[in-house]
Amino acid sequence: MMKIVESVTEMQSLAAEFRVGGKTIVFVPTMGYLHDGHASLMREGRRRGDLLVASIFVNPSQFGAGEDFDAYPRDLERDARMAREAGVDVIFAPRASDIYPAGYQTWVDVDQLTLPLCGASRPGHFRGVTTVVCKLFNIVMPHVALFGKKDYQQLAVIRKMAADLNVAIDIVGMPIIRETDGLAMSSRNAYLSPDERRAALCLSRGIAEARRLFAAGERESGRLKDAVAAVIAAEPLVVTEYIEVRDGDTLEEVAVPGGNTLLALAVRIGKTRLIDNGVLGEPD
Ligand code: AMP
Repeated sequence: MMKIVESVTEMQSLAAEFRVGGKTIVFVPTMGYLHDGHASLMREGRRRGDLLVASIFVNPSQFGAGEDFDAYPRDLERDARMAREAGVDVIFAPRASDIYPAGYQTWVDVDQLTLPLCGASRPGHFRGVTTVVCKLFNIVMPHVALFGKKDYQQLAVIRKMAADLNVAIDIVGMPIIRETDGLAMSSRNAYLSPDERRAALCLSRGIAEARRLFAAGERESGRLKDAVAAVIAAEPLVVTEYIEVRDGDTLEEVAVPGGNTLLALAVRIGKTRLIDNGVLGEPD
C-alpha cells in the first residue's frame, strides 16, 4: 500500500525507522503533474533501495515574481496513481506553510554554478531549489536521490551543494525522456496550444542539428550556436532566451567544443518557458 504523508515530523519518523532497520531509502523529488520522465526516475529508484519516497511539492521559493507558480498544474489524484504504478512506497506532499513557516530565514546558495544559463534569466531560482532540496534531504533522509538531466544545470548545482556541504547522499543523474517526436517531457508542456506544441519541436531539432554538425567535425561553438539559432528562427512562435555551448561539468563557456560539451537551450513560446539540452558527444 502506498502511503501519502503530509506531515514533516511523520515523514522524518518514518525515515528514521527505516534507517534504524538497515533499509536503503531512495528519493525522487518532484513538483508533481507527473509524466513518464518522472516515472523513469521512480522506476530506477525502485531498483536501488528498499523504501522509495517521491515528494510532490510546488516550491514557491524557486518561482520568481511574475512566473507561473499559481498556474503550475496540480493533480494529486492522478499523480498518486502514476507513482503507485512506478513502485513508489511513500508520497511526501507537504504544505508550503510547513516548509516555510512564518519567520523562515535560512537559505542555501551555490555561487558560481548558478550564475549562467537559467540562473541568469531566473534570479533567485536556484537558491529556492537548493534550499528546498536540502530541506527535503533532511526530512526524507535518503541514501540515494535521483534527478533528471532535463534540468542539467539543476543537477550540477545539486551535486555541488552535496559535495560542498558533505551531504552523504548518492546523487544519480538520469537521461532525458522525450515524446516520440522528440519534445522533452515537461509538466509545462500542458500549457502549449497545438500550434505551440508543434513549434516546440525546434528545441530537440536544434540539439539534433548541433550533434550532427559536431559529429561531422564542426569544432567552433559560434557556428554550432548559429546553426541552432537558424533552426529556432524558422519557428515564428518561438523567442530564444539563450543558446549556450558550455563545459558539461563546470558550465563554463567553451570556444572549442569536445565530447563532454553541453548545448543548453531556453525559449519562450507564448507564455510558456521551455528548456532542453544535450551533450554533443553523447546520446540523451
Ligand atoms: P519537476 O517536477 O519538473 O521539478 O521535475 C522533477 C524531476 O524530474 C527533476 O529531477 C527533473 O529533472 C526530472 N525530469 C523532469 N522532466 C524530465 C524528463 N523529460 N526526463 C527526465 N527527467 C525529467
